[in-house]
Amino acid sequence: MDVPLYLEPRLSPRLASLVRSGQLLHMLVGGLGSPLNLVLPEQITDNLARFRNVYREHRLGGEVFFAHKANRSSALIRQLAAVGGAVEVASLGELQHALGAGFTPDRIMATGPKNPEFLWLAARTAVVVHVDSPAELEELAALVHRFRLPRVRILLRLSWFTAPGVKVLTRQSRFGSPVMELDGLLKGVERHGDAVELIGVGYHLDTTSLTEKAVALEGCLQAMDLCRARGLQPRVIDIGGGFGANYLADGGQWERYTTELTNAVLGRRPPLTWRQHGYGLRNESGTLRGALGLYPAYRPVAGERYLGALLSSQAPSLRGRLATLLLESLYDLYTEPGRALTDQCGLTLARVLEVRRTEAGEHLVRLAANADDIGLEEHGVLMDPLLIPPGEGHVPAASEPLGAYLAGNLCLEADMITRRMVFLPRPPVPGDLLAFANTAGYCMDFSADHAQRQPVARKVAVWQDAGSWRWCLDEQYWPITNNGGVHEV
Ligand SMILES: *Cc1c(COP(=O)(O)O)cnc(C)c1O
Repeated sequence: MDVPLYLEPRLSPRLASLVRSGQLLHMLVGGLGSPLNLVLPEQITDNLARFRNVYREHRLGGEVFFAHKANRSSALIRQLAAVGGAVEVASLGELQHALGAGFTPDRIMATGPKNPEFLWLAARTAVVVHVDSPAELEELAALVHRFRLPRVRILLRLSWFTAPGVKVLTRQSRFGSPVMELDGLLKGVERHGDAVELIGVGYHLDTTSLTEKAVALEGCLQAMDLCRARGLQPRVIDIGGGFGANYLADGGQWERYTTELTNAVLGRRPPLTWRQHGYGLRNESGTLRGALGLYPAYRPVAGERYLGALLSSQAPSLRGRLATLLLESLYDLYTEPGRALTDQCGLTLARVLEVRRTEAGEHLVRLAANADDIGLEEHGVLMDPLLIPPGEGHVPAASEPLGAYLAGNLCLEADMITRRMVFLPRPPVPGDLLAFANTAGYCMDFSADHAQRQPVARKVAVWQDAGSWRWCLDEQYWPITNNGGVHEV
């Protein structure tokens, strides 16, 4: 076989210790079934503290709201409630979950387009409402009047920012109100002054581009000026989420892999993907076309570092660091990290059922899990699973690395857990576990379903106590379960 093209996952010391606990992992899957999701509540506390440190470094006030969307876990959000965190919810169910996890309404923000029930419960419980459109503003005001609710604190979600003189336009979004319609929106805010209090403006852009985000942040600073010129007194700028995560341990491996993938698409080396899948690239008579549609899995400037980089960057036209401009105006900064706060917070386990050879000689490893249980491929994150044998010392001595495709447990050709050939240090055998690291952000339960009545993964919270791992079902986890106790960060 060719030289293996590994894409080794980056593992925090905590997650590394967990994947070394093979006996525990086999015991858990033995008792609770495959697939199985593990979440690490202590890690999300650490991640929150890192974000807060960036605020401190830049002397900024404000709050870090965890985007609940990234994971359905109860343990993770109860942990955040216990350590004084905050949460961003985007559905009625998420709001109910957050209230039930112990967040007080001042630590909850409701975003996204809302249905009437969601909007009513948000207004009734006095959480901050991030208004998605002019129509939603009208609907909210009508609810407040009709049910005689207290005045609701609102933010306006803006989109479609442009920078004068700079050829950058932020990507179009179907969420939020176009910034050029701000004037009409503010008229609505003024008209409904008895029902809503404008506390700020914000955006959420699903992009990795710092330039686009700088344009949007500057656009918000200008929008704040406009609000103040009209006598309103907003004090918050919310820059949404999208700080990202660094999935891979080694940038060199990522470089090598993407180069070889290109070569494979061009037919210059043996295939690296299932049925000539090109991840967006294609070969048009010897010329490479298309664009690589993958998450930039090696991303050293991600998470809180990305926030730091954004705050340290210059405003595209106002001439000054964005952090300085925020500080000078005494604005509070709100952030809504999802993926970044769940970084290193989860592990998905799946049992190997079968290893077979296809007619073309490819190795196909069938797992007791399907592509909806392990969303890495769906989210374009390419990363090797870790092979966990059933007992210590079970690794066959004369084992060679193996390139294989991972297939799911559905009777569906498309149910491939990887369409990329993954390289494993030895051929897996039935009974081994594959551990997929860092799945807590979107890759664990976002799409999991009961297709073909296959089981949906159970979820377990795990934490360390005096050097050994403890666990309980996710829904059984309350921060008091953890003997070490949790403290505000
Ligand atoms: C999804 C979402 C987020 C979180 O995005 P990440 O990329 O996970 O950080 C934050 N805010 C809103 C409004 C979202 O829709």
